[in-house]
Amino acid sequence: MLPATATASAAPAAAAGEPHAALLLSLAYLPLRELVVGPPLAHRITDDALLELTGRAEGTLRSLRLLGCPRVSDAGLLRVVQSNPAITELYMPSCTGLTADGVVKIVQVLYECKGHLNRIRLHGICRMTQHHLDAINSVMSNGNPQQDEQSLFYSHRVHEVLNTKNERRIDVDVCPMCTDVRLVFDCTRDGCRKNSSRPQCRGCFFCVARCETCGGCIDLEELSETELACSDFLCMECWLPLPKCSTCNRPYCKKHENLKIPLSPSGQFTCHRCIEFCSSRESLEESS
Ligand SMILES: [Zn+2]
Ligand SMILES: [Zn+2]
Ligand SMILES: [Zn+2]
Ligand SMILES: [Zn+2]
Ligand SMILES: [Zn+2]
Repeated sequence: MLPATATASAAPAAAAGEPHAALLLSLAYLPLRELVVGPPLAHRITDDALLELTGRAEGTLRSLRLLGCPRVSDAGLLRVVQSNPAITELYMPSCTGLTADGVVKIVQVLYECKGHLNRIRLHGICRMTQHHLDAINSVMSNGNPQQDEQSLFYSHRVHEVLNTKNERRIDVDVCPMCTDVRLVFDCTRDGCRKNSSRPQCRGCFFCVARCETCGGCIDLEELSETELACSDFLCMECWLPLPKCSTCNRPYCKKHENLKIPLSPSGQFTCHRCIEFCSSRESLEESS
């Protein structure tokens, strides 16, 4: 059986100027149901190229994931959904060429075409307000009472645009703290979510410090005690067991372990900041 999914990002890097020729060729005979456009093609795909790609679906496209495609415009995407009204899944995170008004219009058009759009990914669309979000929500819920929304927990993976595990209908929400429309994280600690005296730990990435490892909230006092050699944050529980730099006693998070500069086979290491500090001091001493 022929695959019904095309991942444009997996196409071999084509010659500059002809970003999708090889891809179009390889897709020519596929009954296209799902299309993923990710890096490196994402930065180059234009409205016309997208129209041509999705044209292969002959109106049967179900899932369209545009992962950071800055050259796709409201008008371009509108034409794509008009010829593919059966789309149920529309991802457009960090598509900076789209506007919040344009996205609302696209969702409305899909609804008018009797579509069943049930999942949309919007984070990184500029100037999205609660008003836009409400409009999208009311069209997508189609008068049905809100289903129980799944919690969104912070992990660095959420920032990878191809985060497919989450079942939420709409990824973004109004941050209760700054009221901006962003990814709003629930605390991973059961105690926090059930304890109404600390509801302040539900918020966006900018309003609540989150542990890179467990996604739990971190308060200011804890932050000052759990310094890292990289610029991430960890809660005390995740910080304590990690091996520390033998000079400054700061650990690296899992993501940045590769920055360790080993000192001994037993695992002792120093961090890149301490090395930089030492070498700048040496050069200062030399010049004086
Ligand atoms: Zn916020
Ligand atoms: Zn933690
Ligand atoms: Zn919390
Ligand atoms: Zn150090
Ligand atoms: Zn880190």
